[in-house]
Amino acid sequence: MTETLSTPAPLGAPPPRETLLEVRNLRTSFRVLDGIVPAVDGISFSLGRGQTLGIVGESGSGKSVTAMTVMRLIDIPPGVIGEGSEVWFDGRELLSLPLREMRRIRGNEIAMIFQEPLTSLNPVLTIGDQIAEQVELHLKVRKKEAWERSIEAIKLVGIPSPERRVKQYPHEMSGGMRQRVMIAMALSCEPKLLIADEPTTALDVTIQAQILELLKTIQQRTGSALMLITHDLGVVAEMVDNVVVMYTGQIVEQGTVEQVLLEPRAPYTMGLIESIPTVEKRGGRLSVISGVVPSPFNLPPACRFEPRCPYRWDRCRRVEPDLYPAGPGQVARCHLHTPEGEGRRQAALETHRANMTAGRAFGKSR
Ligand code: SF4
Repeated sequence: MTETLSTPAPLGAPPPRETLLEVRNLRTSFRVLDGIVPAVDGISFSLGRGQTLGIVGESGSGKSVTAMTVMRLIDIPPGVIGEGSEVWFDGRELLSLPLREMRRIRGNEIAMIFQEPLTSLNPVLTIGDQIAEQVELHLKVRKKEAWERSIEAIKLVGIPSPERRVKQYPHEMSGGMRQRVMIAMALSCEPKLLIADEPTTALDVTIQAQILELLKTIQQRTGSALMLITHDLGVVAEMVDNVVVMYTGQIVEQGTVEQVLLEPRAPYTMGLIESIPTVEKRGGRLSVISGVVPSPFNLPPACRFEPRCPYRWDRCRRVEPDLYPAGPGQVARCHLHTPEGEGRRQAALETHRANMTAGRAFGKSR
């Protein structure tokens, strides 16, 4: 992927010092043969130093494009960053930074862990060489120190016999080991922000749990902030302080992990939560949200979730919902949280509670 320079936009004021990352009105689209596809459509969120934020949604919700835009890893063209988009990191606006400066930040102050480690590791270099190369480049240390740091990093992620392991190639390791190596690489430069994009999706359940535990322990030990991108609400429950729920490139709900998981206020979030398989639901029917994510070329005219929403009424087809306050610090993109939705809101919340108690679906069942 090539590095790109977004169109510098007039900038607002930097966020307060305790905010490590602040994304403001971010819009990323792609030019394709049939027109322009909006992938991220005006999202805003922030992450404090040392905090964890989960970005949740189905495939195509814009989670990964958000992370790639923050890292300035979107090809432009075909990518287009909308005017007025801002990404503030540690007091600097990343979208308008010179590329040389951005390259220094990437891997050094912000590191990213991808879903499939085999495609992200170089197959012809040993693990130790790959980590040491990164350390040499970003921390400007000598070869010997970089090599020692790579052994340290391998030890930190719990791989036994680190001195022997650093001399191995990626294909000589299991999937779980390779993901540990990716984490070691990401942490070797002690980043202030770690972005993990579906870090456990390609792994089996036991290894998933080990990797998540490892990420949590290391994040607490090093004080890095963590932005975790996942479709898995179970992972979110274990790992994060705050949650952003995305649907078709927009934020549909935002709040603390307790608010979003225990008291969801957007019907899309309610559907995601009701479709988590649990022990109580064993033997019963597993709930799924009815319908499919709409094509970005053919989005519903007002509320984008309307065709799939069991609580919709005529207003949802006519008026585009905003993000409305739905609890202390919690927001939801849904007309249920407007005065017009008052009566229906209570009924929707009661149905959700009943579905959770009964372990039943609110959409189609299978
Ligand atoms: S605005 Fe209407 S259709 Fe959209 S999520 Fe809320 S109730 Fe459902």
